[in-house]
Amino acid sequence: MMITCTRPDGAEWVAADLGFLLHKNPGRVQVFEQSYGSAHVVYPEATDERCTAALLLEIDPVRLVRGKSGGATEFSLGQYVNDRPYAASSLLAVAISTVFGTALHGRCAQRPELAETALPLRIELPAVPCKGGLELVERLFAPLGWQVAATPLALDPAFPDWGESHYVRLELTGTMRLARALTHLYVLLPALDGSKHYWLSADEIDKLLRAGEGWLSAHPEREWITRRYLARRQSLVRVALARLAEIDDATPEQLDAVEEAVDEHEPAPKTPPLAVARRAAVVRTLRELGARRVLDLGCGEGALLRELVEHREFGEIVGVDVSVRALRVAQRRMERLPAWMAQRVHLHQGALTYTDASLRGFDAAVLMEVIEHIDPPRLAALERAVFGAAAPRAVLVTTPNGEYNTLYESLPAGRFRHTDHRFEWSRAEFGSWARAVADNHGYTVRFEPIGPADDRHGPPTQMAIFARDAREGEPS
Ligand code: SAH
Repeated sequence: MMITCTRPDGAEWVAADLGFLLHKNPGRVQVFEQSYGSAHVVYPEATDERCTAALLLEIDPVRLVRGKSGGATEFSLGQYVNDRPYAASSLLAVAISTVFGTALHGRCAQRPELAETALPLRIELPAVPCKGGLELVERLFAPLGWQVAATPLALDPAFPDWGESHYVRLELTGTMRLARALTHLYVLLPALDGSKHYWLSADEIDKLLRAGEGWLSAHPEREWITRRYLARRQSLVRVALARLAEIDDATPEQLDAVEEAVDEHEPAPKTPPLAVARRAAVVRTLRELGARRVLDLGCGEGALLRELVEHREFGEIVGVDVSVRALRVAQRRMERLPAWMAQRVHLHQGALTYTDASLRGFDAAVLMEVIEHIDPPRLAALERAVFGAAAPRAVLVTTPNGEYNTLYESLPAGRFRHTDHRFEWSRAEFGSWARAVADNHGYTVRFEPIGPADDRHGPPTQMAIFARDAREGEPS
């Protein structure tokens, strides 16, 4: 990161006084040891007219892992091979607070009046992670008085065909107090980064509110920033948003709205209302269809199985998933149930893209929030295995309605609801896929919305209900 200060004509101070504000002597190269590597401060230029301070992080991925908390990644190689050494991540925010802590708090014993002065500043960040695209950085920094110039970085300059990466080169120009500029970076860099490298504690809220003092409560994107800064930790996000709303003199009704917004957009991991609605719709439809023997394909951790066993008419329930870990959780869930429930459930590890003779002869199969996890080129294999080979009398498929995503304020445009999703179809896309599958395999199909539908964008979840066409008879 480079911070450049230019002296306006006639100013009583000189640009090199930036060194006083940052408490770092422009004449020296300084190194600060950090838990994750080292931070260097150098001044490529320090004259009366212009002064640039550069903060360079040298990140040691091995130390980052040993130093505790790793990246928030489950992929073990990802702990060592990641963007941390190259991008302006939450680690840069940490460095700003440790290396430039006094400046961040706006204190300067030698030049107190300069600390209070709005200075012409330019901040350059060579690589900022930004999955929301150029428009997102504009939405974040422009309301704070920055002129934003962001340039997308190529994935690999040697292969222009590969397109752009999720990183941008960012240049911010504006006139403001240095401390204010640093607090913007301190809050917004981790928000853009999205993955914090250490565990959050309750005092993160205080840090956020302190750094955001004077600007965050009035920022149009304050909800998004708060969620991302707190890395989506529900309880913390809710408290922080409520406190921010108080700063703004919000009415109790507005506070309720904030809470509801949090519930809606970032469902709590335990009982997301939409997941409840989805299971209810699936169970109701299976009962209407009179299904007795049911397959839950891609059953995951068994939340639907847990509801199916409550209904005695489902005499045989088979859960299939490719994930051994998920099946283990489902197994434990079943073990806690009374015998009359548990004995009707069988769990089975398998990939839905391969034909499995043991899945034949069922009344119904459920694919709840599963197809969007399959790579599009593999979907045809799943269709053959489920509709062609297993060929149950009915198939229920639920999947996100991509059109609805625009209503999730916390979801940047073009992003999916879940990092593992390969696609999120519009109603038209899902419709044409489902109709083609039905035609190819002798089913009829109808569609049902799940969750509160929006007039324009439809429901959050869409469900297709396939029934084997009676005229087709039994598949061979
Ligand atoms: N149906 C559950 C889980 C949805 S998550 C629910 O609605 O809560 C998607 C699930 O599909 C995951 O558990 C994943 O392991 C499983 N899955 C993804 N691809 C699969 C495949 N090719 N074969 C079997 N299961 C798969």
